[in-house]
Amino acid sequence: EGALSRLQVLAAHFGTAEASENHPGGIKRHPTLAGAEEPSHQQASVNTPYKARTGITSRREYERLYRQSVEDPAGFWAHVAEGYDWKQKWDTEHMRSNLDLDRGRVSIEWFAGGRTNICHNCLDRHVEGGRGGQACFLWEGNEPGQDAVMTYKQTLDAVCQLSNWLKSVGVKKGDRVALYMPLICELPIAMLACARIGAVHSVIFAGFSAEALAQRVQDCQCRVVITASGGIRGKKTIPLKQIVDDGLKLAEKAGFKAEVCLVFEHPAVPRQKCPWQAARDVWWREAMARQASHCPVEWVGAEDPLFLLYTSGSTGKPKGVLHTTGGYMVMAGCTTKYIFDLQPDDVYWCTADCGWITGHTYLTYGPLLNGAQVVLYEGVPNYPSPGRVWQIVEKYKVRQLYTAPTLIRSLEAHDAHFVTDSDRSSLRILGTVGEPINPRAWDWFNKVVGEGRCPIVDTWWQTETGAAMLTPLPGAWPLRPGCATLPFFGVQPVLLDEKGKEVQGAGEGILCLKAAWPGALRTIYGDHKRFESTYFSTFKGYYFTGDGCRRDEEGYYTITGRVDDVINVSGHRVGTAEVESALQSHDTCAEAAVVGFDHPIKGQGIYAYVVLADGTSASPEVKKALVATVRSQIGAFAAPDSIHFAPGGLPKTRSGKIMRRVLRKIATKEEDQLGDTSTLADPGVVPKLLETRGK
Ligand code: ATP
Ligand code: MG
Repeated sequence: EGALSRLQVLAAHFGTAEASENHPGGIKRHPTLAGAEEPSHQQASVNTPYKARTGITSRREYERLYRQSVEDPAGFWAHVAEGYDWKQKWDTEHMRSNLDLDRGRVSIEWFAGGRTNICHNCLDRHVEGGRGGQACFLWEGNEPGQDAVMTYKQTLDAVCQLSNWLKSVGVKKGDRVALYMPLICELPIAMLACARIGAVHSVIFAGFSAEALAQRVQDCQCRVVITASGGIRGKKTIPLKQIVDDGLKLAEKAGFKAEVCLVFEHPAVPRQKCPWQAARDVWWREAMARQASHCPVEWVGAEDPLFLLYTSGSTGKPKGVLHTTGGYMVMAGCTTKYIFDLQPDDVYWCTADCGWITGHTYLTYGPLLNGAQVVLYEGVPNYPSPGRVWQIVEKYKVRQLYTAPTLIRSLEAHDAHFVTDSDRSSLRILGTVGEPINPRAWDWFNKVVGEGRCPIVDTWWQTETGAAMLTPLPGAWPLRPGCATLPFFGVQPVLLDEKGKEVQGAGEGILCLKAAWPGALRTIYGDHKRFESTYFSTFKGYYFTGDGCRRDEEGYYTITGRVDDVINVSGHRVGTAEVESALQSHDTCAEAAVVGFDHPIKGQGIYAYVVLADGTSASPEVKKALVATVRSQIGAFAAPDSIHFAPGGLPKTRSGKIMRRVLRKIATKEEDQLGDTSTLADPGVVPKLLETRGK
């Protein structure tokens, strides 16, 4: 029997991005939507009529183009690339890759020989085309009523000033610059300013600790750090400059010294309150006042690095993923256009922070390459009320809204009036990314938020893939809750069994990608060996994603969860997410996470962490009821051996994903081997879990 044939990892994690800050547990269910849900492969198709302006309105039309894209990748992508400005055209000979370790070093190359600049293509191209007066950023502050608009021309001027300043402090092509900033216009401006002069940005999410910052600054040796005096999210003020100072001190102790720190004064923390090192620190406003608002573009090679970004760290120490310019640009622009049916002038909102890959590809580069008006929201989705997201949609008449399951689930927990009080008639397309979306949350997003009018694009991809890989194209084929449907152009997914044999037709396996795509990572910064061993050694010749996947008769792909998350109980393969989904269907359970541990008889046993719903207290009866729910929904073999009530909540990454490897170590009493926890949103969760263990 194929080891994965019973793998039914129905991910139904239940959480909220701000859980650790506001309410560790105790999330209330919407009463009408409570109850157990069907796994996604048993869900009926949903046909939402939508006529895409891109012209791809049927699966047949898609398949014609898809075939071209895999039969002649060089020709297909060259055609797409011609839609952008190049200083020098690429050499068609140089679109080549080797993914097979047996044939030597793994290397990926697209458009080599060509010279371009992504900042030019995001800004100058539109300004030169006469669209400089159009809004580029629609910025919404933490407090309702706080807002600002920047046109494409104003953005270009600001970018040029910063590029000039970077040059004035000696930053050259290839140098790394760390950005640790709140979600204000200056953050994407700083990314674009680096790109303009060929410097490599490394955005560090401004929720990370001083240690995490130090690690990243050191790893890629950033001589320059750009930050702000502080930031504000909901009711919380974050002393960013203080954290940077602490982080740079740690880095210095470890032998790396950053030379310059540029600081934007944010009203949340006035300059008098900032620690300051006169020899190193510079205020943004004063520095820009001396810089010209014109700066020539550095035409860089297509394979010159554009940025590096550390992964979320859900499964291990974050990896410094390196992306280059040409292929990434072409794919960011093209996927954004087709997946969101994005046209110039559309008001588009992606709720991700620039600190994640989604904030790079689908908040900054992708939408700007398409000339859209981009909403940037600095605050949290539930401040001052759970209706804020929908008020922003109404205020800006947002057409495309791209967000994450964790946010959808946290807003779903509140009364529907928070949504329906705002006018959402501008919405055309909804999107989700980051984790599998459970069908109940999908339904709510579809019916309550989108009133059944808006296709939901469930996009599966990774920091490493650079752009969406599996995704619906709106209106082109029927959707299914929790299903990412079909591969994007040029993407060749395969399902491998544990022996590395390709599964044909309908079936399940480990998702791998065959053949390189333009937006793929090129290496892990400073560690090409780790790049090869992480992604190309599990199955020779394929890119290994680490995710499990199912393909059905229609050819649709459904992500079933991470491969590491499968537990083997007495020969039964149990998907953690399936058990979690069953636990979460019980009224007493707000959130659950399940891990395996070594069991003398069964091989592996099941250990379940449960966050109780508001108003429920821990008791042996509740434990019994939870175990009974799993027995009845999945079977006796999946009944948890231990239930651990977690009053302080679950360990999650800053991007809202549950960190199961930490839960595994706590369950097996190996807390001395927790590994890298620098990406935890709230490290305080760990001691609370240790205290409550065995109770
Ligand atoms: P690390 O690689 O450091 O462990 P990470 O995998 O969480 O962290 P990301 O690159 O942010 O880092 O996340 C990519 C992963 O997120 C995918 O491999 C997949 O497990 C999950 N994911 C993303 N989008 C979807 C989706 N639409 N459906 C299901 N899973 C998704
Ligand atoms: Mg990953």
